[in-house]
Amino acid sequence: MRSLALVLLALLTVLTVLLHRGASAAAKPGDLRLGGIASELARRHVTIRCEGLSGALTGAGGESGRTEFVNGKPVSVSYLQEGVCQTLHSYARSLRAGPACLLPCERPLEIEWSLNTLAHESYHLAGVRNEAATECYALQAIDFVARRLGASPDQGRALAAFSFDQLPRRMPPEYSSPECRDGGRFDLHPGDPSWP
Ligand SMILES: [Zn+2]
Repeated sequence: MRSLALVLLALLTVLTVLLHRGASAAAKPGDLRLGGIASELARRHVTIRCEGLSGALTGAGGESGRTEFVNGKPVSVSYLQEGVCQTLHSYARSLRAGPACLLPCERPLEIEWSLNTLAHESYHLAGVRNEAATECYALQAIDFVARRLGASPDQGRALAAFSFDQLPRRMPPEYSSPECRDGGRFDLHPGDPSWP
């Protein structure tokens, strides 16, 4: 099992869990919109399911998403914490609602984290296991995920830059690599000078 641990938002999550204690986690169908985005990144048909407590960005073990591998291959479903799914849908709604800020007007870090979580699990679904590589690819897909949710090109680029600046330092060291840079080993588009 691969888990995406969250450090910064742990306290927030404790508060969220306390606020939402008692909410039940019923089995639900896959999230079609998020599954569609993950399928594009994974380049195969995959399913995203949301689980856990309403509003919670992390589960009891500190993870925001999980993808299992069987015999070295990823299964076709990833699980995201319910609050991650909710944050992504709420961001999409806010974009449809009218003029928006370049970076999200509200809760930018939570939105970054949620975009990153979906992208991260999508690359596990694509078959990438190494956490530093997976996370580096995810950071390069923030722009794509944001655009799929309705962000403008400028908003997508701003979110990508903000994520690359803000997120790696908030993750355990195994999620980072000096190769995650323009022209580095994990650069998905080494010939393209734009980064991430
Ligand atoms: Zn991971």
